[in-house]
Amino acid sequence: MDCIFCKIVAKTVPAKVIYEDDLILVFHDIAPSAPTHILFIPKKHIQSLHYIEEGDKELLSHLLLRIKQIAQDVGIAAAGYRVQTNIGRDGGQVVPHLHWHLLGGKKL
Ligand code: 5GP
Ligand code: ZN
Repeated sequence: MDCIFCKIVAKTVPAKVIYEDDLILVFHDIAPSAPTHILFIPKKHIQSLHYIEEGDKELLSHLLLRIKQIAQDVGIAAAGYRVQTNIGRDGGQVVPHLHWHLLGGKKL
């Protein structure tokens, strides 16, 4: 699989991992566009949000709950933050493996 995020999951490409469990991986963005810029990905390859299926409900709710938790843990929750997922070319998606950006630490 020639997917950079699958390689990060497989640990063949390094990343600054914040959190990991059976379903998801959370790591710092390599080119942060805010003081806090963290990526949340499912370990299984899903191309984008447009490709989620009914069977992914548990995975997706789990991931969203971890976003909230980690926003709290890294200290940006009180001031507020942004959660973003880009879909396809016009959506600005560069890496074709579903991910959410967690951005904060400044007024966006
Ligand atoms: P997209 O535009 O696809 O929504 O966002 C992809 C994000 O992945 C970008 O913010 C980019 O900086 C980040 N990124 C791309 N390659 C790597 C990598 O190898 N490691 C890490 N940690 N982040 C990456
Ligand atoms: Zn992938």
